[in-house]
Amino acid sequence: MERLWINARLATMTGDGLGVVEDGMVACEQGRIVYAGPGGGGPREAAEVIDCAGRWITPGLIDCHTHLIHAGDRAGEWAMRLEGASYEEIARAGGGILSTMRATRAASEAELVEIALPRLDALLAEGVTTIEVKSGYGLTLNDELKMLRAARALGDERAIRVSPTLLGAHALPPEYAGRADDYINLVCGAMIPASVGLADAVDAFCEGIGFSIEQSGRVLTAAKAAGLPVKLHAEQLSALHGASLAASHGALSADHLEYAEDSDVRAMAAAGTVAVLLPGAFYFMREAKLPPIDLFRAHHVPIAIATDCNPGTSPTTSLLLMLNMASTLFRLTVTEALRGVTINAAGAIGLSAQIGTLEAGKTCDLAVWDISNPAELVYRIGFNPLFMRVKDGQCC
Ligand SMILES: [Zn+2]
Repeated sequence: MERLWINARLATMTGDGLGVVEDGMVACEQGRIVYAGPGGGGPREAAEVIDCAGRWITPGLIDCHTHLIHAGDRAGEWAMRLEGASYEEIARAGGGILSTMRATRAASEAELVEIALPRLDALLAEGVTTIEVKSGYGLTLNDELKMLRAARALGDERAIRVSPTLLGAHALPPEYAGRADDYINLVCGAMIPASVGLADAVDAFCEGIGFSIEQSGRVLTAAKAAGLPVKLHAEQLSALHGASLAASHGALSADHLEYAEDSDVRAMAAAGTVAVLLPGAFYFMREAKLPPIDLFRAHHVPIAIATDCNPGTSPTTSLLLMLNMASTLFRLTVTEALRGVTINAAGAIGLSAQIGTLEAGKTCDLAVWDISNPAELVYRIGFNPLFMRVKDGQCC
């Protein structure tokens, strides 16, 4: 055996709850978990044995919705908003996503990687071992591909699994003003085919200030035809039934969902679509309409939580803070919150067979915490009790 973590308490995330094992251990061989369970039942010898002294082990955390790759910042817009401008007013004035687009287009692939690394390092420091990264600030074929390559390159720079998503339909670039359908033709006809092999999924921003149900539907249809899984930014600011559209395409996830209604949630449940909640954006935009948590519970829709790390509406790089916000703002339980950054987040990016639980056969991605109860991860604000991060069985 290569490596054992002994004298640990495990939150395996198997079954419906936290899957707690007191006095547990994890054994790793060639980057995979070969045993996770009671200490008495596993292998006894290994090249390296790590005594966890009663600390807790969870699966490595998964941030399943980020816009980590981007240039520039929007602190100036935040200052404008503090003086009364709305998100829509800033967007219509050519700010918002388009200001990030200009900075991202001007940056090289290497510069985008360099700029993103400090943000990535902040996530790693909190035990994150897998991250989804969207394009969507290039909005030309070449700039979208540049963003996807930069996202992939993050995985060469650090011990992290990166799942890139094409979000070509994020905003209408100014050169297509008044010609949104032509831009969607570009997304469907050029960006999606060129992203095969580079992106793991395709996403779109279905919203009054983004793309319509019809346009978003064309993107999802083209993605499926190219063999790429889909997801959708839906019901963030208004009820367009993007979540139902996503579900009708068998989407991995529908994300935001503050305005989702009963019919949307039923459709998601039937399709197995994960509800990705983004409390950082809810908080930063001071939204008042809560996502329909009780409906998700009633219809057994898996709930995931992510940072939505982006310069305009959720400039955070703390997934632990999102755990706290999901509990304070959305009233998620400790179990719901922690499953939301492990097994359900894995489901949101189509990786639940590989990561998200402590089980034999899965990738040995672990977070070892200096805590006495898993609730501490959800309870604390701005405190990081990570003791050790493990990616592919390697302590890092
Ligand atoms: Zn987003």
